[in-house]
Amino acid sequence: MADYARLVDAARHAVADASAVTRQVQRELDTLRAITKDDRSPVTIGDFAAQAVIARALTQRLGPIRMVAEETSDVLRDDAHAAHLDAAVAAAQEVWPEASADSLLAAIDTGRADRSSARPVTHSGAPPSFWTLDPIDGTKGFIRGHQYSVCLAFIENGTPAVAALGCPNLSRDFNAPLDRADAQGSLYIAVRGDGVFELPCDDTAHTAHPVHIQRLDHRDTDAVSICESVESGHSDQSATALIMQRLGPARDPVRIDSQCKYAVVARGQADAYLRMPTRKSYVERIWDHAAGALIAAEAGCAVTDIHSRQLDFSHGAGLEKNRGIVVAPPRLHGRIIAAIAELGLAV
Ligand code: AMP
Ligand code: MG
Repeated sequence: MADYARLVDAARHAVADASAVTRQVQRELDTLRAITKDDRSPVTIGDFAAQAVIARALTQRLGPIRMVAEETSDVLRDDAHAAHLDAAVAAAQEVWPEASADSLLAAIDTGRADRSSARPVTHSGAPPSFWTLDPIDGTKGFIRGHQYSVCLAFIENGTPAVAALGCPNLSRDFNAPLDRADAQGSLYIAVRGDGVFELPCDDTAHTAHPVHIQRLDHRDTDAVSICESVESGHSDQSATALIMQRLGPARDPVRIDSQCKYAVVARGQADAYLRMPTRKSYVERIWDHAAGALIAAEAGCAVTDIHSRQLDFSHGAGLEKNRGIVVAPPRLHGRIIAAIAELGLAV
């Protein structure tokens, strides 16, 4: 059995360091765009630098690891992207002073674990354990200067067992505007069965004391606040509006980018996270949900797809057996699932 205390400690360090790197890149958005003559370059640079920093931090603390991550180094190895590579090395040096082009590229490719290796292995019965990473989830939020997250989880037997979710711009103060970048941010860590803990995201000294959090249940008579994507292409906002009408009194939806949505529901700032499919063929990516799903579940939420099925992380890079996402405290979760079925939206 895995040594979870060691894994979560490594994950916490890795994500705090990578969050510092992305924060610096976000501050330099305009400069980086000008250097690379590419509008999306800050995301590319931040993604690669963060993935390298995380792979290196995990390997240093845990030895060789298996990781299924969103990025591979192919783009950076192309001479046309030399400016991006230089900028990614400079960004990583924020927490990894001796980083070089070669060591950065090698670290990024730690995340190249064969994606099909995340599938069940029939001869042994048990699927292999692996890390999954989205170095910058919510790229549109990142570019806007709004919310994004650094999402790392360890998958064991097809479910997340350890998670670290960095929300570098998410204030721990519920009254702070969600569309403004907080100076400290919030970081969440969880081990399955052991609860979820919050600490400041700028903890690169790794000295902060994590505080246990648990969300309150939701009373049927309370107005419901639902969290969903800013991007209407990622979640069907009109479907969410219909569901909210069914639930009774509702507040305006809370729209934020990235897995910060899971954190916002886990800590009780919103009541539910809904991701209603926008097209039939889309399969959710495991790194878009693994960390957030464990954080919300450990805070007391039910986390399923729109058919109330458990999320199944044992089918490679996609949640092949699931459709959409529903996250809420158990009673409210049941009411949402019923509303989805009654409205004929569970397709
Ligand atoms: P969010 O910030 O919650 O809107 O989600 C961002 C993530 O949505 C990205 O990391 C993409 O992997 C994912 N995504 C891209 N296209 C779709 C889609 N059609 N439906 C759901 N998610 C998508
Ligand atoms: Mg993502």
